[in-house]
Parts: sequence; structure tokens; C-alpha cells
Amino acid sequence: MDQQEQQANNIDSFKSLGVCEELCLACEKLGYKTPTPIQQQSLPYTLQKKDIIGLAETGSGKTLAFGLPILQHLLANPQPYYALILSPTRELCVQIQEHFQAIGATIALKSVVILGGMDPLAQAKALAQKPHIIIGTPGKILYHLENTKGFNLKQLKFLVLDEADKLLNMDFEREINAILDIIPKERNTYLFSATMTNKVSKLQRASLKDPVKIEVSTKY
Ligand code: ADP
Ligand code: MG
Repeated sequence: MDQQEQQANNIDSFKSLGVCEELCLACEKLGYKTPTPIQQQSLPYTLQKKDIIGLAETGSGKTLAFGLPILQHLLANPQPYYALILSPTRELCVQIQEHFQAIGATIALKSVVILGGMDPLAQAKALAQKPHIIIGTPGKILYHLENTKGFNLKQLKFLVLDEADKLLNMDFEREINAILDIIPKERNTYLFSATMTNKVSKLQRASLKDPVKIEVSTKY
């Protein structure tokens, strides 16, 4: 690596954006050297507990963009039911959990995925293990909030609305609004969407507090 490259690396590193040593090491181990544009532009805000709306397409690295700040804040104040991540499909939810488990491998992170088609009793048991991170589709999360004894999100600190345009196109609006009514208002919210539609801006107004808007047009 020549000097110029090294300098660029330093400026653009996860560390220079404020990511803690432990998570920088985890990124390095997984081969994440340079933050993607959405990560670069959002981390300075999310690490400072600002709400963000991120407009970025698939493959831009959104999972780490919300995963790193959530984990960094969690490390400072470990607590069950810390973050809820709503994503539209089974595949996306599973991918998000894999990402979280990989990056959180050294910090004893507990996460659970809650999806349709799974045994509700087994899921209730998984929720009773007090995971830090809950990832799921809105319908099933709402089901457990309404039906699973002993499970509530009174301590929730972070909500992520991943692929919000898809969530809304898939008619999850009623469930999302019901979840927003139940969870604490004192929290941080990150909303990500590939497109800004009327429904997305309505959801933004209902869920985010004074958000910073970040728009990344090019694919990583
Ligand atoms: P999105 O949610 O925006 O569709 P993902 O978060 O799933 O994107 O990331 C897309 C791919 O890019 C994944 O394979 C992920 O491992 C990889 N990736 C994410 N951030 C980085 C990075 N900083 N450096 C290299 N690869 C990355
Ligand atoms: Mg994604």
C-alpha cells in the first residue's frame, strides 16, 4: 500500500468515523475495510444517536449501516430487547441476522428471527431467552406483542424500518402502525428505503424524530 492509499484508508476507515475498537476488529476479520457510502455518511450521525432516513438501493451495505451503531450503543448499555428490526421478507430477515451474528460473534450477542410459518410456541421460547436484537416481519412481531405472555418491548431503544417502500407495498402498514403505537416513543429510529414514496414519507413523519436524510445514488 502506498502512502496515498494509506492516507485514504485512514480517512475513510470505520475507526475514523467513530466505530469502537471491538467492532472495528470484527469488521476487519470479516474483510470490511472501507465503509460503503451509506455507511460513511450515516455513521457520524447514528453513532451520536440521531435518527436517520437513508435512501439507498439494494447492495449498498445498509445492514452494517444500522448494525454497527446499534451494536456500539448496546455495548455501552447491554440490555435485552434492545433493538427491533422490521424487514419485509424471510430472506432479508435471515440475512440480517447472519450479519448481526457475524459482527457480534465476539460480544455474546443474542438475536432472534421471528417469521411466519414458524412454530409460535418455539418462537415464544426464543423470545423468553431475552435476546438483544429481534428481527422479523411486522405481522409476526405484532402477533407476539399481542399474544405472547411475558414478551413486551418496554425497554426498546432502537427501531429499524428496513426496505420501508417494500414493507409498505406488501401491505404491512396496519401492522407497522400498531407496533409504533405499542413501543416506547423515547427511542432511536432508522428508516431505509430504495425510493421515497408518499407512503414512506407518511411513515417517516409517524416514526422519526428530526431525522438526518442521507441519500446515496450510486451502487457500492
Ligand atoms: P443492503 O442491505 O443495502 O442490500 P447489505 O447490507 O446486505 O446491503 O450488504 C450487501 C453486501 O455488501 C453484503 O454481502 C455485505 O457483506 C457487503 N458489505 C457491506 N458493507 C461492506 C463493506 N464496508 N465492505 C465490503 N463489503 C461490505
Ligand atoms: Mg438489506
